[in-house]
Amino acid sequence: MEETHNTATAATPTISGELMSSDFQFSYQNSLPKPDVQILTSNGLRIPAHTGILASVSPVLENIIDRPHKHHSSEKIIPILGVPCDAVSLFIQFLYSSRCSEEELEKYGIHLLALSHVYLVPQLKHTCSKAVGHRLTVENVVDVLQLARLCDSPDLYVKCMKMLSDNFKAVEKTEGWKFMQENDPFLELEILRFIDEAESRKKRTRRHREEQRLFMELSEAMECLEHICTEGCTTVGPCDLGPSNKRRGPCNKFSTCEGLQLLIKHFTMCKNRVNGKCSRCKRMGQLLRLHSSICDQTDSCRVPLCRQFKLKMQRERRGDETLWSLLVKKVASARVMSSLSLPKRKREEPRETIHDHGIRNFRK
Ligand SMILES: [Zn+2]
Ligand SMILES: [Zn+2]
Ligand SMILES: [Zn+2]
Repeated sequence: MEETHNTATAATPTISGELMSSDFQFSYQNSLPKPDVQILTSNGLRIPAHTGILASVSPVLENIIDRPHKHHSSEKIIPILGVPCDAVSLFIQFLYSSRCSEEELEKYGIHLLALSHVYLVPQLKHTCSKAVGHRLTVENVVDVLQLARLCDSPDLYVKCMKMLSDNFKAVEKTEGWKFMQENDPFLELEILRFIDEAESRKKRTRRHREEQRLFMELSEAMECLEHICTEGCTTVGPCDLGPSNKRRGPCNKFSTCEGLQLLIKHFTMCKNRVNGKCSRCKRMGQLLRLHSSICDQTDSCRVPLCRQFKLKMQRERRGDETLWSLLVKKVASARVMSSLSLPKRKREEPRETIHDHGIRNFRK
């Protein structure tokens, strides 16, 4: 934190008020009794103030004011050192007015944050955390992070961490980072751990999104399978009626539907289907099985093998039962979602990865 030299303060080191905005000064001098305390800043500036006001806003200052002092001098002096005196002036100004301009925050936000933390002024602390957070840069993020930690400002801390992990390569080159690395290895560790977690969070989200896409695709395929086998689509019709010419054009799920129709055609003609050597036929078999798992009208259903699969599944207990039923559940819910076209709700992700059982690539 660099000390800024204000010409006004340098010229008048003993007189306060110069730094305060004129309208503030006006009301401050006109409506209040005589000041009964002086705030001493690091360059010797004394700011007259009122104990009643300081004590009412800051419990820490109240404590200091209430402390019995040794000297029986008529006036109390409270030193606020270690920050630029302009920042102290602004701090006192805030205690009176509860106001701080954007310009002032821009210049002294960091110092005011520290002061608001030390003197327990939550309203100012909140304002400063926000203001400093808005002005984060690759250059200052390490310093601000340390401040956020010292000042116990969780929002600002998280904001810094996010910026750090999103711009790590650039931050690594800054002076702030190098200095921190040498002086605070624990913080370095904390940052690296956060970045690591952020990475795996991203990976989880990506995986979740991919899974959702798979479920949607499968749910679409299920819809197409039903209408192809019931009403027919562009080239394939219900199995007992042959290709349908009734439909004028392709359905609205054209790419899924077309792929599926090609797959159905292949399935009916493939010579390797029975001996299990054909991967396309296996895929078709999985889609038919998935349909059967979801279908609730098995008796009247026109999708091939629907009833056979139902019966087979009732007889067999498969090893991958849980994952399969999870897949079925997910596809069924994706289907409900798409039919209602509601926004996807955020749900708990299952811990294990759901395998698509090789049925994903039906669009071929
Ligand atoms: Zn179709
Ligand atoms: Zn085949
Ligand atoms: Zn069915």
